[in-house]
Amino acid sequence: MAHDSNLIISEEDFSDEEINYQEEGFNCELCGQYVGNNFEYEHHLETLHKHVCTECSRVFPSAFLLSVHLEEKHDSFFSVMTLKKDCYQCLVEDKSICNAKFRTSEERDEHMRNVHLYKNDFSFENIGFIVNYEED
Ligand SMILES: [Zn+2]
Ligand SMILES: [Zn+2]
Ligand SMILES: [Zn+2]
Repeated sequence: MAHDSNLIISEEDFSDEEINYQEEGFNCELCGQYVGNNFEYEHHLETLHKHVCTECSRVFPSAFLLSVHLEEKHDSFFSVMTLKKDCYQCLVEDKSICNAKFRTSEERDEHMRNVHLYKNDFSFENIGFIVNYEED
């Protein structure tokens, strides 16, 4: 009873070329982390390698926050200035929205939570994370 067997047509004509696009993925040159494709890699670079502190390898979500961190953590002049006046600026980048300054980073954190409704556990100290660059 082997009639009509050629009714079953194999539909394997999906184009391999489209699927093969960076299918294997690769490792990031900077940190060795595996990324699946170029799109993922762009996102990876954006989040992990874009605003990196050259002093302590901490990564920040924006250039503004990185600049604040550099000033507060790695600028020796800043620590001298904090003794004399309020130097910790509000973390809202647009100074036309808020131009507040504070004596300590704790006061600033409190301001961010109370005025700008940042999360209850917000602390600038905890922003960013450290990328462990693998040595070759
Ligand atoms: Zn990387
Ligand atoms: Zn740093
Ligand atoms: Zn503010």
